[in-house]
This record gives sequence, structure tokens and C-alpha cells, in this order.
Amino acid sequence: MRKPIVAGNWKMNKTRAEAAALVAGIKAEVGSINAVETVVCVPFTDLDLVAQAVKGSILGLGAQNVHWAEKGAFTGEISAAMLKELGVTYVIIGHSERRQYFGETDATVNQRAKAALVAGLKPIVCVGETLMEREAGQTTQVVERQARVGLAGLQGADWDKLVIAYEPVWAIGTGKTATTAQAQEVHAFIRKLLGELAGTETAAKIRIQYGGSMKPENAKELMSQPDIDGGLIGGASLEAGSFAAIVRGAVR
Ligand code: PEP
Repeated sequence: MRKPIVAGNWKMNKTRAEAAALVAGIKAEVGSINAVETVVCVPFTDLDLVAQAVKGSILGLGAQNVHWAEKGAFTGEISAAMLKELGVTYVIIGHSERRQYFGETDATVNQRAKAALVAGLKPIVCVGETLMEREAGQTTQVVERQARVGLAGLQGADWDKLVIAYEPVWAIGTGKTATTAQAQEVHAFIRKLLGELAGTETAAKIRIQYGGSMKPENAKELMSQPDIDGGLIGGASLEAGSFAAIVRGAVR
């Protein structure tokens, strides 16, 4: 059975003082829920502080991006080794905001995912269609392209470290959530595709999160679907109470 994984994506929110308060609240609320893997993906500037705060707890630490090069002239970027050194375990790659505002492509997602894996980080690779693509009936085509290119070249143990986040772009930060049926349909499609890429036995072990306006009110139902193994949470992860309620909703 796959252990559900709920990750908070704090995006560009929380100063260090705010981060300290939020992580303390999350620890107090969900620090003893072993049935769910709970991760906070925080801004680079909060990583060291949150790493100290989660030390010795069951909470995991994630970053929100990573560069593919080991080092060099890439102003403003952060390498996988730098993240690893800070105690980071997970890294979000290819979030739709990176794709939309910062020119992220399926090819750079692939480079970043491979670099993360080489350094011993676990990538949370995001895929998902825009509203226009969904309305044009291209959802599976888009997700398939993003996954095939984004995951190209992964092999062996890489697959065990991978988490996929299916995040329909039209549902992110909009308050619109995919219905459970819509989400499950795409998750099942992704798992079938992973079967082709990694083998069905391996694909059955890969966690696929749903992301897009997940909140306490809809989380339990979404995560009770057979192929939905947790959530990647934006807005609702910025407050300990709502994030904790979602984590509790993931207990199976
Ligand atoms: C996200 O940014 O990954 C996300 C799902 O955001 P929200 O929960 O705010 O829609």
C-alpha cells in the first residue's frame, strides 16, 4: 500500500519569523500522524530554519525548485547539493507557476529531476493541463507529453524516489477544484503511463498527489480515490489548522 504524502507549497510566502511560527503549529497538530508523510516545501530563505525545526520529527522538508548544474554561472539559482546540505529531502519541479512565469519547459523539468535524483533528493514532478487544453479535449495528451519528456531517462531506483503531482492549472489558486471523478480519471491515466515507463509493479508504488484548491472540505473525498495518494497544497498550507485538517483527511 502506498503511504499518502501531503506536501505544503508555501510558494513566496513566510518570512523567517512567520515560517518559525507556522512550522511549530504544523508540528503540534500533525507531528504524531505516522500514517501520512507530511512535507513542507518552503522558500529557500526559510530552509535552514525549518530544517532545524523539523529535526527529530516526522515532518519532511522540501524546496520549490532546483537547478540542473552542479555549480557555476547561474545567477539566482540553487544546486541540488546546496539543498541536500541543508537537510532537504523533497523538491518540487515543474510547478505550473514556474512553467508560466519563468519559462520552465518539459526539457528543463527533466534536467532538474535528474540532477535532484543524482544528489539524492526526491523530486515532486508537477504535471497538469490549462483550462484551454482541457476544453480542447487535450488533457491526457498534455499530461502524457509532460510526463514522458519530464521523466525521460529515469531508471531503476529513481522511480522509487519519484512523486508526481497532478495539478490542473485551472484549479491552482482559483478555488475551482477538479471533481473527484475528473481527478481520479487523470491519476489513473498517469499510473497507466508510469506502468509503460517504469513497469506496472513499480508504477503501483509511485505516489501521485492531487493539487489545485485542495482544502479541508474536499481533501478527504479526493484522497479516498484509488489513485490519489495525497495532495500538494498551496493556499491551505499557509495556516497550520487547515493544513493539518488536510493531513488528517489523508489517513486511510
Ligand atoms: C499549488 O500551488 O501547488 C497549489 C495546488 O495551490 P492551491 O492549493 O492554492 O491551489
